[in-house]
Amino acid sequence: MTFYLGIDFGTSGARAIVIDEEARIVSQMRYPWANVTNWVNCWKDALWGLIEGISQEWRREVGAIAINGTSSTILLTDAAGQPVDAPLLYNDPRGSMMLKDLSSIAPPNHTVLSATSSLAKLLWMQQLPTFGQARYLLHQADWLAFLLHGKLGISDYHNALKLGYDVEKLQYPEWLEKLEIPVFLPQVLAPGTPISEISPEIAAKFGFSRDCLVCAGTTDSIAAFLASGAKLPGEAVTSLGSTLVLKLLSRTRVEDARYGIYSHRLGDLWLTGGASNTGGAVLKKFFTDAELVSLSQEIDVSKVSELDYYPLLKEGDRFPINDPHLPPRLEPRPDDPKEFLHGLLESMARIEAQGYELLQQLGADKLSYVYTAGGGAANSTWTTIRSRYLEVPVVASNKTEAAYGTALLAMQGSRIICNS
Ligand code: ADP
Repeated sequence: MTFYLGIDFGTSGARAIVIDEEARIVSQMRYPWANVTNWVNCWKDALWGLIEGISQEWRREVGAIAINGTSSTILLTDAAGQPVDAPLLYNDPRGSMMLKDLSSIAPPNHTVLSATSSLAKLLWMQQLPTFGQARYLLHQADWLAFLLHGKLGISDYHNALKLGYDVEKLQYPEWLEKLEIPVFLPQVLAPGTPISEISPEIAAKFGFSRDCLVCAGTTDSIAAFLASGAKLPGEAVTSLGSTLVLKLLSRTRVEDARYGIYSHRLGDLWLTGGASNTGGAVLKKFFTDAELVSLSQEIDVSKVSELDYYPLLKEGDRFPINDPHLPPRLEPRPDDPKEFLHGLLESMARIEAQGYELLQQLGADKLSYVYTAGGGAANSTWTTIRSRYLEVPVVASNKTEAAYGTALLAMQGSRIICNS
């Protein structure tokens, strides 16, 4: 039996999932972040801790490993792969002060023109006193994979998108080369591509087979998409978490910076999408999780709510309406909490439908099927309301863990080798 290991480094912790050849989960473990002061040490401890959590018997049978990190979490290392300074995490906005310079170099509306993009962060890092010791720029997933395979300077085109890598031409663009940043930018592979066998030291230390492969990784949100099972153009995943995030698989690449819409490459397809500030965080302001369950069950889904809200916690949205001053619309508020919730769920379903409509208007494939992830996925009342607006089947994703999607990547990577 061969197993495949996916490791997710997410926002709240790390998780490992081992799957078998039939893609069934055989083992999983978590490593939550708690009061972290040194991220590099914490990631290392998590990586080794999760691996040690897999039984020795199964470790020997692991055929391939892949790792995903949070998008735009980057670090600088010296020539030996030692971090020279603290990493900059996905949500660190310090790159914002570089945006003015960057906008005179990068094409208008490019994905790197965001305060949290990897490139904005890298430009900011150039003024660190430690920058002189830096040789490599790596994403979190690249560095963690390096700890397993020992090769520096390798990434994947999901992580590299926000570094400015041209995922269509599969090269760094000329405008980026002109910046002459004095560190090596990673060589970029397709996610899941086998990079190398695991290093002999790590194989010996943890009891992996010497021919266990380490494959190029991905980002946490794409890994979660891969976990859902969506594969065909027109298939989508809506994430009903604190915010509303849509991802639609398409044959056409769709980009529109006004709405924060961009596409990741997924083999021959494009994963396009956008994120709205509406979502579960607004529900949470008015209802407990238990109330959401009980009140949802009382809603009569055969009736359409007349309440037309735009539920937001504070003013402003980008997708599907790009208006930084868009006011939250939560009036009139009926006395009956069930009616209020009905209006909220129905209004969010309209925003979701409007979002998919916008992606299709911009050229994405016609929506055919919606998988659902996040806290709202289990709400069957909401699912029924949403399928009325979306006019396609809406189901809860079978699997939602990013680590599962990354384990699938590892499986796919090892099959590339077996079939070649
Ligand atoms: P995130 O990871 O974005 O914080 P989760 O995927 O954990 O979010 O989902 C949490 C959200 O799901 C909360 O904002 C909560 O309001 C919402 N939620 C929880 N239970 C339900 C439910 N039964 N129906 C609708 N929304 C729910």
